[in-house]
Amino acid sequence: MKIFVLNAGSSSHKSCLFDLDKDNSEVPNPLWRAALDWTHQQGQVELSASGAGESIQQVLPITDKAEGLEAMVNTLVDGPTQVLDSLSDIDAVGHRVVHGGRDYIDSVPIDEAVKAAIQRLIPLAPAHNPANLQGIEALEGILGDVPQVAVFDTAFHARMPEAAATYPGPHAWVEQGIRRYGFHGISHQYVAQRAADMMGRDLADLKILTCHLGNGCSLAAVKDGLSIDTTMGFTPLDGLMMGSRSGSVDPGILIYLMRQEGYTADQLDQLLNKESGLKGLSGIGNDLRSVVEAMEGGNAQAQLAFDTFIHRLRRKMGGMIASLGGLDAVVFTAGIGENSPLVWQQACEGFEFLGLRLKADLSRAEEDQDIAREESRVRSLVIHTQEEWAIAQACLALLNDRGC
Ligand code: ADP
Repeated sequence: MKIFVLNAGSSSHKSCLFDLDKDNSEVPNPLWRAALDWTHQQGQVELSASGAGESIQQVLPITDKAEGLEAMVNTLVDGPTQVLDSLSDIDAVGHRVVHGGRDYIDSVPIDEAVKAAIQRLIPLAPAHNPANLQGIEALEGILGDVPQVAVFDTAFHARMPEAAATYPGPHAWVEQGIRRYGFHGISHQYVAQRAADMMGRDLADLKILTCHLGNGCSLAAVKDGLSIDTTMGFTPLDGLMMGSRSGSVDPGILIYLMRQEGYTADQLDQLLNKESGLKGLSGIGNDLRSVVEAMEGGNAQAQLAFDTFIHRLRRKMGGMIASLGGLDAVVFTAGIGENSPLVWQQACEGFEFLGLRLKADLSRAEEDQDIAREESRVRSLVIHTQEEWAIAQACLALLNDRGC
């Protein structure tokens, strides 16, 4: 079965085509992979695609997202990256949808009601859900009547205990749906299962702390195969310090800024989502690599940003371990989690008292790896997240269940 996966963001689109007729026990390489980068230059989009052993990169004078998607999809059937005779060879499309609210706690086939729900949830995920909806509608236009499936980033956390999901505001918040939803669920779920496979254990018997550290950062406490706690909340702004997002701050700061400095909601949104975190504190940027480089060159602001990132990471890791009531493995994933031995070391240093001991010589690797010493009581695994693959799998499982 040929499954096309779309991960639509506000400034990029990432896509893969998987052929799932083969043995699916290992993550296969996709037949084709492509991306659109809308940040390239105003009035242009950068299209990159690889397939059939070839790759292309083009800058196109396109500003309309649907038009860009059509150009990207056409590289499946035309030019050096062609892997299909016709777009009608695509059997199903899987979409990453960031916010499914309380209504969608599992993947679902997309129909008008699902689209209406994604639209209704835009105020809860204003940076993500509009792009997801637009991607769904554009592909309906390009591919016609092919089954499309929504795989929600909130779904893995949807069975969290009520006490973990509830904010201690007025009780009216409970009815209003002002609660902790959690995000990055597709990634947390994939890496937790992969960790169990690497350990040769059943996921249902393990207590795993998964650390998704990319531009957006979140932790999940995975017990009995379910997320029982997570650091992101009502929105993806809660929890850890991130690339340009503050994570949790005293809400009193916001009241202070509104009262004393006349901040509007939009200004606070910009401040907390775009001008905080590693970028805001270091004054350098949201990329950890440049912050570390400056820190190593003696830049005090970069040092403070890095130290604060680690402090808050360890503190939240401790909270998740308390929710788990024990710990079998810590997993690191996403851009920072997959690539930064410095972060692995510093994050785990706080937990040596639990018997978590990392190897002395750590380096990044193409393969997933166990970075804990043999005698360590807790495993520490670096796992490359495979969100697109996980979406394709969820899509396949759903279609098989429905006898499609
Ligand atoms: P997103 O959340 O946008 O999907 P990624 O998971 O791709 O982001 O993570 C991007 C971040 O990963 C970059 O901003 C950078 O800070 C970090 N990163 C990537 N490679 C490295 C590396 N070699 N060392 C440290 N950090 C890295």
